[in-house]
Amino acid sequence: MTTGHCLCGAVRVTITDLPRDFGICHCKMCQRWTGLAFAAIEVPDAQVTVEGEEHVSRYRSSDISTRSFCRICGSTLWFRDDGRPSYEIPVGLLDDADHLRLTHEIFVDRKPDGWGLAGDHPRETEQDYFRRKGHVPQPASRPASPAEGGQP
Ligand SMILES: [Zn+2]
Ligand SMILES: [Zn+2]
Repeated sequence: MTTGHCLCGAVRVTITDLPRDFGICHCKMCQRWTGLAFAAIEVPDAQVTVEGEEHVSRYRSSDISTRSFCRICGSTLWFRDDGRPSYEIPVGLLDDADHLRLTHEIFVDRKPDGWGLAGDHPRETEQDYFRRKGHVPQPASRPASPAEGGQP
């Protein structure tokens, strides 16, 4: 059993059988959403319990995905793709993340040049990612311009 919560504590998650592997998305949308990069662990719905659902705000960031955040403190909560029954939960939300292991990065060609992560794990560019997924999502019409690109 693993627990986590947003900055103010209004939204709490409890996770059973937390997977050990996590990934990082460097797409421009995730940069804007999180401040730099989205480091997240994907957990199937059945393993996640959310408390404080009434404090969760949702932003439809593309035609296939939704990003949630705490409406009180603004913390990034999770990312969900349509038709994919899982939460992508930020590593930073968890009370204890010491045993987790970074296993992949995506949109590495989108990250600022001035920083990078060590390790010998797979790194996909934007093109690699969309080739694998076979779908280029359409960004939400308002903020993100199509030229910026973005995951999910
Ligand atoms: Zn909060
Ligand atoms: Zn992203």
